[in-house]
Amino acid sequence: AARLAGKVALVTGGSRGIGEAVALRLAEEGADVALTYRDSAGRAEAVAAEIEGMGRRAWAVRADSADPRAIREAVDAVATRFGRLDILVNNAGVGVVGPIEETDEADIDRVLDVNVRGPLLASKAAVPHLGEGGRIVTIGSCMAERVAFPGGSVYATSKAALSGLTKALARELGSRGITANLVHPGPTDTDMNPADGPSAELQAGFTALGSFGTPADVAGTIAHLVGPEGRYITGAAIAVDGGFAV
Ligand code: NDP
Repeated sequence: AARLAGKVALVTGGSRGIGEAVALRLAEEGADVALTYRDSAGRAEAVAAEIEGMGRRAWAVRADSADPRAIREAVDAVATRFGRLDILVNNAGVGVVGPIEETDEADIDRVLDVNVRGPLLASKAAVPHLGEGGRIVTIGSCMAERVAFPGGSVYATSKAALSGLTKALARELGSRGITANLVHPGPTDTDMNPADGPSAELQAGFTALGSFGTPADVAGTIAHLVGPEGRYITGAAIAVDGGFAV
């Protein structure tokens, strides 16, 4: 059944990786889907074309999540173009790993701008468009819950901040029938973190299952949260991490 028929979803960073899988999954469930990207225009257009091939409306919008105006304009443009907005998935994110004393201030700003201010501003822009049944899902990281190896100061800070955002949104929007949740992926095979990368074995070793997850694993949980069965879940942090944070 098309559980998301008639709904409009916006996925930030939907051109590749987890965001691509989420965009496709929500379209499979019946939603019309807009996705943002920064650099990968060709990939973003290909994802949009695949969604249109499923018979849904789709739109790939260039919007840098580090740019407040770009975020605001993209959210408003999506709501205008599709006539409504029901689901926001804050997925766009960047990773920086390294010893804190060697981390550039510019990199710190970039990670906080994209990973923290981006979801905050996208949520701020989306809320006026969301009605009863509205959904906000933000992608955190298992590193928000357990920092299992050195070098994560900036990234873990950024992802832990999303816990405060999610709880505050849940409390503020609950009376309007809007939920807000956080999903913490574990090591997930994407361009950002390939399952055959240099630290992949180390990361997999910190999970209970001993292996990487796939973008589709994360997308499945998000589909549940944004669908009708997610109705009573809000303010929650849900790990899809193979037991990394255990
Ligand atoms: P990828 O690097 O594979 O893909 C990132 C996506 O985000 C791309 O679509 C990219 O667009 C987009 N993006 C990046 N920066 C910006 C920006 N400034 N503005 C707009 N879009 C942007 O990452 P993943 O799919 O692996 O990660 C997705 C989310 O999941 C991130 O928040 C990440 O932190 C989180 N995560 C990932 C884990 C993993 O192991 N992979 C583990 C835990 C959390 P473009 O193609 O245009 O660059």
